[in-house]
Amino acid sequence: MKNQIPKKPFEYQLFIDGEYKEAISGKRFERYSPAHNVLVGTYAEAAKEDTELAIETASAALKGPWASMSGAERAAIILKTAQLIRENAEDLALIETLESGKPISQANDEMEWAASNWDYAATLARHNKGESYNSLGDDMLALTVREPIGVVSMITPWNFPLLIISQKLPLALAVGCTAVIKPSEFTSGTTIHLGALLKEAGLPDGVVNILSGFGQTVGEVMTDHPKVDMVSFTGSSPVGKLIASKTGANLKKVELELGGKNPQIIFPDCDLEAALDAVVFGVYFNMGECCNGGSRIILHKSIADDFTKKIVALSKKVKVGDPLDPKVKVGAIISDKHANKIYSYFDSALEEGAKVELGGNKSNDDNGCFIQPTIYSGVTADMKIAKEEIFGPVLSVLTFETEAEALEIANSTSFGLSASVWTKDIDRAMRLSRSIEAGTVWINTYMSGYAELPFGGYKESGLGREMGTAAIDEFTELKTIQVHIGERTGWWTK
Ligand code: NAD
Repeated sequence: MKNQIPKKPFEYQLFIDGEYKEAISGKRFERYSPAHNVLVGTYAEAAKEDTELAIETASAALKGPWASMSGAERAAIILKTAQLIRENAEDLALIETLESGKPISQANDEMEWAASNWDYAATLARHNKGESYNSLGDDMLALTVREPIGVVSMITPWNFPLLIISQKLPLALAVGCTAVIKPSEFTSGTTIHLGALLKEAGLPDGVVNILSGFGQTVGEVMTDHPKVDMVSFTGSSPVGKLIASKTGANLKKVELELGGKNPQIIFPDCDLEAALDAVVFGVYFNMGECCNGGSRIILHKSIADDFTKKIVALSKKVKVGDPLDPKVKVGAIISDKHANKIYSYFDSALEEGAKVELGGNKSNDDNGCFIQPTIYSGVTADMKIAKEEIFGPVLSVLTFETEAEALEIANSTSFGLSASVWTKDIDRAMRLSRSIEAGTVWINTYMSGYAELPFGGYKESGLGREMGTAAIDEFTELKTIQVHIGERTGWWTK
């Protein structure tokens, strides 16, 4: 079965209170592999009643055995889950490749990155601590303690299913929260499978509940329900704004990881070979369907023509095709609808006067949607392809003469997720990394990530931070405890 389309589609049910079950309505929905046009999964379709049940279950679990477990006990369960993800990595990677169209070699890597996040979260489970204030006078000692915020709704997108839930769930579990999860309707398989791994790892029933279903039914209840204390959402900026408006109206905590239009600024003094590799990796990784995708490069004019030719030459070598082929680097686009959105940017690029250096054609393949690497030069900061998130293997090449101009272009979109600076001049690198409006800035590299490091966006790329110790702050409430020592002088008797 290794790297093959299964003879029968996988069948998934909802995971509520530690058990797999059908939706109350009995309804199911399907997923066809975007690369092969073959039915690869059928899923129970949760509706309002299932979602309410999952939320009530997660709320009740806040008072169950989970609440009284020590950090060490929680860490053991989280570490065991990491081990089980590794043991099941091959099967999980296959599910993701079939559902999403991503290359199998990359899906395999992602399973390890996901497991590593669980490893890291286990360390935080034993490090959830507060502060003491011993300077308030002889008769007072104060403490702060961090308590789990409660039930967290986690809503995730289709581009990195297990990896993205692994940026949220283990950290929320580390501090004692419970969760209701809705993966994308396109790629629910591995998140639902995670339920069985959590149960095997010893997680008490009801702590994690997983629903397959659609945003406007399940997602909206997960955002509105009074027993949900926090919403942690990764997805598009428009849906993120909608969720923020609802959580704002109900004063629920919200954490949003949204889109990006991430620039790589390239100066002539950098290691140009390394930058070339990073440009190609940055734009074609996951077919460009990546929030961190390096979809804009800002090149110094003196190297622009030569460097663009090199990008085109290397891009022609990038293998596009069946994602089950371990040599393929660019698989299928998630859906025809999304491919059509990408094509609309091909039209706008030409209308606005950009020059096609490579690709820019619609896929002719009836059996799956494969878009060739596409590069536009002569792009200016006001063009749609320079400002909007295309979410495909499409690179916009812009140019600059001065450092100030490069910075202005880098900051000229409504997004602020990530950016990179390529130069050997440390002063320039540090100046720019301070001035770029982005949650992450890489210097002389691109798209590295570590569980230890907080991740999130400025501007319309998000609110709050995932990962790192910042995750403890996100998933906890801070309580202040004041302890009076000795005899208290009363208000009346004073
Ligand atoms: P999307 O916003 O369409 O959907 C994301 C999730 O929200 C899905 O599970 C969907 O069912 C659900 N949803 C849709 N409507 C909803 C509603 N009204 N209420 C509640 N939930 C609803 O995003 P997508 O197309 O799945 O993913 C692509 C987007 O995700 C891109 O914009 C990308 O940049 C972003 N993304 C961001 C990060 C990050 O960490 N910043 C990571 C990955 C993807």
